[in-house]
Amino acid sequence: MNRRTFLKCAATGGAAAAASFSAEARASRSVPQDPYGCLVDLTRCVGCRKCEQACATVNNLPAPSTPFDDPLVFDVRRRPTPEAFTVVNRYHTGRVDERNRLVPTYIKVQCMHCQDPGCVSACIVGALTKKDNGAVHYDESKCIGCRYCMVACPFQIPKYEYSDPLTPRVRKCTFCFERISRDGGTPGCAAACPVEAITFGKRTVLLELAKKRIRENPADYIPYIYGETEVGGTSWLYISAEPFEKLGFLKLPSRPIPQTAESIQHGIFKYFWAPLTLYGLLGAVMFRVHKKGKTDGTGSEHKGENQ
Ligand code: SF4
Ligand code: SF4
Ligand code: SF4
Repeated sequence: MNRRTFLKCAATGGAAAAASFSAEARASRSVPQDPYGCLVDLTRCVGCRKCEQACATVNNLPAPSTPFDDPLVFDVRRRPTPEAFTVVNRYHTGRVDERNRLVPTYIKVQCMHCQDPGCVSACIVGALTKKDNGAVHYDESKCIGCRYCMVACPFQIPKYEYSDPLTPRVRKCTFCFERISRDGGTPGCAAACPVEAITFGKRTVLLELAKKRIRENPADYIPYIYGETEVGGTSWLYISAEPFEKLGFLKLPSRPIPQTAESIQHGIFKYFWAPLTLYGLLGAVMFRVHKKGKTDGTGSEHKGENQ
């Protein structure tokens, strides 16, 4: 190998690495065209927690520390855990009824099953994938426990089984993947809701339904569908009587998280050229010095010192 060949190899290798990384990042995303989703109508939810109970049954989760029929659970705001993929929280925003009594709003929280999910993009081994039916699916056999998905999720949903020292898994709502993969299958929570606060169906149909409800009942809803555009859109959608920011919903950009991450990644690769070229030059210098040493005998001198 001469100096010219060495430099050529270094440059070609760097370009190939950069291209393959960015191609991999893009390949990790495939936004389904007609996924399923769930529309949660917060004006209907009565906080009965039947959805939590159904989720626990469907996913073989342990019984909660506070029983499903104990309203004291609402004294504390909860987040999904490895043992509870969905939780319902209560909010008081100052809304009152005709008798001046405070009206609570109950909000079911779970993985949003983003259209272009940050967790999927961040998973370097493909343990998380966005399926055509809308579910963001977790394959525990591929997971290496890096927990990048937890960092990448804008909704802070994935949780890790720290309590399991041997086979810890990332845990989150599965969108009842196996159930909805069957014809006519419905997520456990949606099937259990006694007041039809959760409607399961094609996302496009749900968006039409949400717009229709808002249009026909302008006094009952704010004119906004949460999840229609947030981080590129989500399979779970919400409509509400009150502004979402009052209810703890995050204000998020419409740009998908992976696109932002890739811009940064591509920027790094762009500026990675400088160190790559430097490494190439350093390699060429070392190669030349080594070759020169062999020719004039200095190489064997160094070898002797090290022995
Ligand atoms: S909410 Fe978080 S965990 Fe769920 S799909 Fe989106 S990025 Fe992934
Ligand atoms: S879709 Fe399934 S896993 Fe997700 S919250 Fe509902 S019942 Fe639980
Ligand atoms: S089952 Fe329905 S009404 Fe009951 S808490 Fe869940 S979403 Fe609300």
